[in-house]
Amino acid sequence: MDVPFLDARAVNARYADELKAAAARVIDSGWYILGDELAAFEQEFAAYCGVRHAVGVGNGLDALSLVLRGYKELGALTEGDEVLVPGNTFIASFLAITENRLAPVPVEPDPATFNIDASRVEQCIGPRTRAIMAVHLYGHLANMSALAALARKHGLLLIEDAAQAHGASCAGIRAGAFGDAAGFSFFPAKNLGALGDGGAVVTNDAALAARVRALRNYGSELKYVHPFRGVNSRLDEIQAAMLRVKLRHLDEDIARRRSVARRYRESIRHPDIVLPAVGIEEQHAWHLFVVRSRRRDELQHHLQALGIHSQVHYPVPPHRQLAYAALGELPLPVTEQLHREVLSLPISPTLDDEAVVRVIEGCQAFGDAP
Ligand SMILES: *Cc1c(COP(=O)(O)O)cnc(C)c1O
Repeated sequence: MDVPFLDARAVNARYADELKAAAARVIDSGWYILGDELAAFEQEFAAYCGVRHAVGVGNGLDALSLVLRGYKELGALTEGDEVLVPGNTFIASFLAITENRLAPVPVEPDPATFNIDASRVEQCIGPRTRAIMAVHLYGHLANMSALAALARKHGLLLIEDAAQAHGASCAGIRAGAFGDAAGFSFFPAKNLGALGDGGAVVTNDAALAARVRALRNYGSELKYVHPFRGVNSRLDEIQAAMLRVKLRHLDEDIARRRSVARRYRESIRHPDIVLPAVGIEEQHAWHLFVVRSRRRDELQHHLQALGIHSQVHYPVPPHRQLAYAALGELPLPVTEQLHREVLSLPISPTLDDEAVVRVIEGCQAFGDAP
């Protein structure tokens, strides 16, 4: 039997009875959008993150985009302002910025942690820089104390792309509670995954929360009264009910991810495989377990031949995509090197010990360079 990269069916099968009961509750309620399930989930998720407000939206991209849109409408951002963002993120971080006619300025990552290199941020700050979008890539908290100090010093907003980092924490503070506001995704494959699309904005900023709450619902706070030109991006009742079930199990799931990661880190020893660095264990929620290898494609084929499925996150950086052709000439050698070298090994709360051993043995059996 193959070792799957992620078995979403198995992930949800563990809670099938609870999920079906929750779905039945919504079906029988006759109320499917902006109801009690969403209100309850928003409260529970805000409490989990340790912030005052959570606003459920349609997906993670919309969450990030609505944070920026909200700050534009509140006067903290203006069209053309620059937002610093790690060069090696998923393209959605960039899309949220450009969707708001703001300018993404890619910053090189630290190859050891894969996160934005705080020591390179200051040299990227110009007269139009107004915000830093920190991405907790692969579930690993970015260096938030350094970024918060830089944001304070230069009067910048600090926004977290926490789409991969539900539950990662540092000194008891969880992802989503470090910056001015954060966007989460509940795409099914994420650590906290819905059974469809979903996302949330979390913040302690009451004005931002209120504005995003209106913007997600046609710019309305009161039915048929529209002070703002909003969008339709709401987390529906079925998904909110699914997420309430899965939020109760999130910490157990992360604990299992951490135990898989610990075994990989203790047992994989290979001259051509560089393991991911992490400070204290709580800082990483291990959405992905990403190694580096100069022989990445060869390693992936080797594992594939053993029935071990791996993936590349991500094969092409945003500034090298056709969508961002204007950024394509930027010199980002670290970003580009990572995109050539990264490989994500299977990790999930349902990966059993036998599969973990197979992955470790598969890596150890990777031959020497020809
Ligand atoms: C998944 C993801 C998003 C977007 O979330 P969706 O719900 O898929 O729109 C944004 N940023 C990062 C880093 C992601 O991994």
